Amino acid sequence: MFHPDFKSMPYWWEAYHPTAADPADLPRRVRVAIVGGGYGGLSTALELARHGEECVVLEAAELGFGASTRNGGGVSGGVNIGKSFSGRTLAVAPGRAAALLADGHDAFAVIERIIAEENIACFWQKRGRFVGAWTPAHYAAQEKRIGMLNDAAQSGSYMVPRARQREEIASDFYYGGMVVERSASLHPALYYKGLLDAVRARGVQVCARAGVERITPRDGGWVVRTARGEVEADEVVIATNGYTGDVTPALKRRVVPLASHIIATEELPEDLARSLIPKGRTLSDTRRVLCYYRMSPDGRRVIFGGRARFTQVSPEVSAPILHRFMTDRFPQLRDVRVTHAWTGNVAFTLDALPHMGRQDGMHYLLGCNGSGVAMMTYLGWQTARKIAGVANQDCAFDSEDFPTHPLYTGNPWFLPAIGAWYRLRDGIDRRLAGWGG
Ligand SMILES: Cc1cc2nc3c(=O)[nH]c(=O)nc-3n(C[C@H](O)[C@H](O)[C@H](O)COP(=O)(O)OP(=O)(O)OC[C@H]3O[C@@H](n4cnc5c(N)ncnc54)[C@H](O)[C@@H]3O)c2cc1C
Repeated sequence: MFHPDFKSMPYWWEAYHPTAADPADLPRRVRVAIVGGGYGGLSTALELARHGEECVVLEAAELGFGASTRNGGGVSGGVNIGKSFSGRTLAVAPGRAAALLADGHDAFAVIERIIAEENIACFWQKRGRFVGAWTPAHYAAQEKRIGMLNDAAQSGSYMVPRARQREEIASDFYYGGMVVERSASLHPALYYKGLLDAVRARGVQVCARAGVERITPRDGGWVVRTARGEVEADEVVIATNGYTGDVTPALKRRVVPLASHIIATEELPEDLARSLIPKGRTLSDTRRVLCYYRMSPDGRRVIFGGRARFTQVSPEVSAPILHRFMTDRFPQLRDVRVTHAWTGNVAFTLDALPHMGRQDGMHYLLGCNGSGVAMMTYLGWQTARKIAGVANQDCAFDSEDFPTHPLYTGNPWFLPAIGAWYRLRDGIDRRLAGWGG
């Protein structure tokens, strides 16, 4: 199953590898110190710089170490908002749900605009998404949600019955599903590099290996102590998402870091490659143990991701599981070998919603719930506009209400048990439906 040239690293890093070469010097004083150098941190910096606000980005590891160069590159415009790690969409009051979806719609517009304005060559392709239904009941639930998605997020969604499923995917694995036309894909590491270049071109220092160790209030502002010295700032923004640590314990208690794993296959014969996902969409499904997949930007490889395990495990463990998930859907790929396997952290929240706001005086943008390419870019943009005083409308994700749980202190010890339970429940759902794909 493993190709002789197998690498335990993201396929995306062949195009941009996270680096700490020539780390920028830390400024002594800035208006805004941003903790975390992923999409969220960089997009905050970009918008602040556009409004003339001086800032610095402080990244603990290499630039692009986090989820932002490890993800599947599927870009959604709100369709996953409220989807918890149980795979279910949690109920939100109808008025609020519409406002959240409208912001999801705006998030898609913002990332598209940034890519165009900054000329980021990242294989941005608007070819839509197909979400396969695991059971007939899931199909019915998708059908019920479509009106809301189309009204509030203008998502261009419609159902594809099982009889027409092969127009979307060369497989009979699902009970039909939902197409969301207003979705896209990109090359995550090239999008990251493009943001980084755009931020640097505006003179912002992006400091690698400058892990923040302590943040202390002083004289109405902050002293931010890092592994490479101190920075004084008027405002601090926390953009650490699935890597949020003990520097911000109150925020650590509000996000559950969940591992997600991906494999890339070797190049496929052209005919086979073209046949798998005829419309070039991104795919995901309605199982609790979610899988998401697509073709590589050159159309030659399958990039297949999923929650093979809910915690970090080695590629020796995750890759065979993902390979099996892939061949469950595409038996025709049985002999295809894996060239890359990797993992990264996503940040789930207890209400399954992304959040921005203020905690203990610091700004934060956290909780991508597995769909953060557009969303974390957007929350960074919104946070920057709020700090610069140019936000002309409220963001529905900006709320005081960022739930926690008295028994959760930031250590997700329970995830392996939950993962095993969800795998079992997925199997039971399908058996109860009396339908096996
Ligand atoms: C395997 C995988 C697949 C995914 N697939 C998709 C997808 O297809 N579509 C989608 O929309 N989303 C997807 N996501 C989610 C998406 O990648 C994230 O939502 C997004 O990248 C988060 O960006 P971010 O800037 O908030 O966090 P990150 O990119 O994770 O960056 C956070 C950074 O904070 C740094 N940090 C932490 N603590 C400190 C500290 N004390 N000091 C300084 N720096 C610190 C970390 O080193 C890290 O680099 C996926 C995620 C993973 C892991």
